[in-house]
Amino acid sequence: MKIKEELLQRSSNKCEICGNEENLDIYKVEPKDEYIVVCDICKPQLENPDIIDPNHFRCLNESMWSEVPAIQVVAYRLLSQMQEEGWPRDLLDMLYLDDETKEWAESLSATEDDETIPTKDSNGTILNSGDSVTIIKDLEVKGAGFTAKRGTVVKNIVLTDNPEQIEGRVNGTRIVLLSKFLKKV
Ligand SMILES: [Zn+2]
Repeated sequence: MKIKEELLQRSSNKCEICGNEENLDIYKVEPKDEYIVVCDICKPQLENPDIIDPNHFRCLNESMWSEVPAIQVVAYRLLSQMQEEGWPRDLLDMLYLDDETKEWAESLSATEDDETIPTKDSNGTILNSGDSVTIIKDLEVKGAGFTAKRGTVVKNIVLTDNPEQIEGRVNGTRIVLLSKFLKKV
């Protein structure tokens, strides 16, 4: 495989993360079609963050200075995953990535974060921004000094970061409503 030979040349036959010279393999730095040379100690840990041994990755304080973007990306991801240890955060603060590399490094975590919890009404129907709902219970609106009456239709609701709350206009005032007291129209 030609890629591997080229990579081994780049890395001088060493793991590009820890410098190990044995049992080398290549690792694809998703989602790009770029690879780095890794050893059989680093590779499983790159593939499964649950088994990361922070002590093994002390080596990052050297390898993170590589000029190879793919290595910078792996270093950035590992350090981010180990932040609770303390020292990785210090290294992360020093690690400078250009915009494109940073976007690459963060591209995977972004897709994981996409699993947001849907906002649901009292019947479990998923609500979206722009929907209309009716209020199923008289609700006192704190601070606004009125009660949002049961049966009131709220048009064009807006979702918030909290799946239990939406925003809508009642009596001309923009208020936060609990989604469990609403029913999609
Ligand atoms: Zn290694």
